[in-house]
Parts: sequence; C-alpha cells; structure tokens
Amino acid sequence: MPNPPKEDNIFDYIICGGGMSGLSLAYQLSISKLSNKKILIIDPERKSKNDRTWAFWEKSDNPFDEILYKKWNKVKIIDSHKKEKIYELGQYRYKLLRGIDFYNFVNAHLEKYPNIIFKIDAVKEIRDKSGYVEVLTKTNEYYKAQYAFDSTFQLDLKNNKNQNLLQHFKGLEIETQEDLFKSDIPEMMNFGIPQKDAECRFMYVLPFSKNRAIFEFTVFSEKLLTEKEYNESLFEYIEKDLKLTDYKILEEEFGVIPMSDTETEEFVSERIIRIGTAGGATNPATGYTFSNTQKKLKKIVKTLEKEDSKFESESFWQKRHQLYASTLLNVIKEKRHPMAEVFDQLFAKNSISTVFKFLDGESSFIEELKIMWSTPKVKFGKAFFSVILRKIKNSFF
Ligand SMILES: Cc1cc2nc3c(=O)[nH]c(=O)nc-3n(C[C@H](O)[C@H](O)[C@H](O)COP(=O)(O)OP(=O)(O)OC[C@H]3O[C@@H](n4cnc5c(N)ncnc54)[C@H](O)[C@@H]3O)c2cc1C
Repeated sequence: MPNPPKEDNIFDYIICGGGMSGLSLAYQLSISKLSNKKILIIDPERKSKNDRTWAFWEKSDNPFDEILYKKWNKVKIIDSHKKEKIYELGQYRYKLLRGIDFYNFVNAHLEKYPNIIFKIDAVKEIRDKSGYVEVLTKTNEYYKAQYAFDSTFQLDLKNNKNQNLLQHFKGLEIETQEDLFKSDIPEMMNFGIPQKDAECRFMYVLPFSKNRAIFEFTVFSEKLLTEKEYNESLFEYIEKDLKLTDYKILEEEFGVIPMSDTETEEFVSERIIRIGTAGGATNPATGYTFSNTQKKLKKIVKTLEKEDSKFESESFWQKRHQLYASTLLNVIKEKRHPMAEVFDQLFAKNSISTVFKFLDGESSFIEELKIMWSTPKVKFGKAFFSVILRKIKNSFF
C-alpha cells in the first residue's frame, strides 16, 4: 500500500460497487441514525440504463415501494399440463421495480447528502488492517475507512466441488395494438411450455398495462442457450400459443444469475462485509436477490447503529435452508426428476404463502417437512444424501 491517505481520502464507510446492493446500502444508511457518516461509493460506472427489472415478493414495505412500477396481490401459475390457477397472495405482494427507476431515485436522493461521495473508479484491493480498512483502486487512489462493504467480489462458479448452475433468461417487452392483457394478474410461472430433458424451463408474463407486458423465457441449467434458442421459445409462445401477431418489441433483457451452492461469506473479517450476490443474498434455488438484500442490509445498518457494532453470522440451524437449496440444485443437475413436475406438486400441495416463506428462509421446521413431503421423496432423498456425502468428501480433500 502507498503512503497514508490524505484527509479527503478518509471515510467512515466505503461501499465497493454502486449497483443494486451498494446503492441500497447507501440509501438505507442515509435514512438511518448514521446519515451524517462520511461514505464513499466506488464503481467504474454510474448506472443510468434500464439494465434489469426486479420482480420479488414481500410481506413488508421496503424503502423503494414508492417507485415500484407495478404491485400485484394475486398471481397466476400455470402447471406443466397447462392448468391455470390464480393465487391470492394474502399478506404478500408481488412487486416489480425497474432498474432505471431505482438508479435515478437513489442517485437523486444521495445528491442531497454532501457527505456521500461517488467516485468513478475500480476497486483493486480491500484489506482489513485491524482497526481500519484500506481500499486501493485501479487509478492508484488509496482510501481508509472504518468499514468496507464489498459487492464486487466474484463468487467461484467454476469450482466443481460445488454445484454450479445458472438461471438464464431472455425477456421481451412488447406492446400490442389491442388491449389483450389482464394488468391485475401477472403470470408468475408458466411451466406449460416445451421442457428439455429434466431441465427447468418456464415463461413468465408481467403485464404493465392492458397492452404492454414483458415476456421472459427462463431456464435453470448448467449451460446457456444460443440466441436462436431463446428467441424460438419466446416467439413460439407469443405467436403460436398466444396467437399475437400485431405487436411491437419495445425493449429486450438478457440476464444470468448464479444458482450455486458455493460457500459465501458475508462477514469476511471484522471490517470487511460482503453485500448483495457477493454476500450470499442470492437464493441459489431461485435466483431471487432483491428483497433478501434489503433485509440483510437493514440488519447491517441496525448493527452499525449500535455502539459495539458486532455482526452476527447465521447460525448452523438458520443455514439449513442452504442445504435445501443444494438438494434442489442436485435434483436439477443430476436430472433426477422433471423440474416442472416438482413445481407442479409444490404449488398444488402447499399454500403460496408457505412456499414464499420457505424460499425466504422464514418457514418453520413443520412447514419445511410439509414442503419436503410434497416433492418426489425418494429422488429428493437421494439428492439430499448425495449433497451430504459431497460435503463430507469436500471437508477431507
Ligand atoms: C438482468 C437481471 C435481472 C434480474 N432480475 C432479478 C429479479 O427479478 N429479482 C431478483 O430478486 N433478482 C434479480 N436479479 C438478480 C440480482 O437482483 C441482481 O443481479 C442485482 O443487481 C445484484 O445486486 P449486486 O449489488 O450484488 O450486484 P450489481 O447490481 O451487479 O452491482 C455490482 C456493482 O459492482 C460494480 N463493480 C464490479 N467490479 C467492480 C470493481 N472492481 N470496483 C468497483 N465496482 C465494481 C459493478 O459495476 C456493479 O455496479 C437479476 C439480475 C440480472 C442480471
């Protein structure tokens, strides 16, 4: 590390990466008791494009509710036999937030805080020096702070000791001439599309209005498809299944989210904390990240507000949900059972609130047993033991 930093380069907190989790943390800090802390956000770019749209369910309010693009109190799920069912969400809401609305809202809000600074740069190294942290950037700037929050750390998705799958999707936002969509009911998952092997494929349709909707073709598998394959599935659904011809494409989205049981560490050291996907906020079984990130950040801010600021990792018992996710990944990876049928059973035999609670890691053990009972037991049992065996093997070699 170079010489000690100049006064301007000393902060209370440094946020490495100004994407979803970095900006959310800055926002949550700014509305907390810590709003006067000197905060630096470092990212090579200031986000200004609609690069993603977040869909997520939530029971409670979150700080970004006022900029939601849509919010629904019921969803439709179509099973692999094309049977439709509408689910009332009870206390939950299915929410949609566009990336661009989030970035614009948070950036405009943070501009009101002269103590929160954004630097266009790339983080090269973060070091816990016991008592403070050092952050070195690509342009050789050197910063010092009490804590560093890191969303730039890349998970190891190549190590074959772990199960590394991908959730990949292509979406088209389309506008039709006529009013064709029921804007009050999104199609959260439609498994009634051609499945390949035992891979998991589904379509979802989120209507923004009566004539505008996003169609997203999603696959859980080890490898990405070709551009042609994504397009074929999308157009087959739009033009053959729904028989839509008079429409125009407004926007396209492509994304890949890791579905991996690679170990993630939230509290890397006393003063380096990983956030967002880097900090394990992505549910390996579903790819959902947004609401879990907000929950984790809320806890972090609450801890920082306390004088002793002692961060607590999840207990072994709380981590059982990772074991369930690993089991599901094993079923997909080893093609033990067609996933569309697994989801059919999951939604047919459990209330949607129980499924949401389970996926959020907030279910009781009794509810978890009920969920497990609704899956193909022998195949999931084999997957579970295979996961345990692999864990034992990994701990020796
Ligand atoms: C297209 C797409 C759609 C998604 N849809 C959903 C959804 O519907 N629901 C859901 O819950 N989740 C969704 N996700 C998953 C997840 O919510 C997002 O990936 C989310 O952006 C993750 O937040 P993050 O802060 O971990 O990463 P990011 O938002 O990617 O932020 C990381 C930031 O770090 C910056 N960075 C990288 N390297 C450096 C460096 N060396 N120094 C400084 N900065 C650096 C990057 O520029 C970036 O701004 C989606 C993901 C994608 C890609």
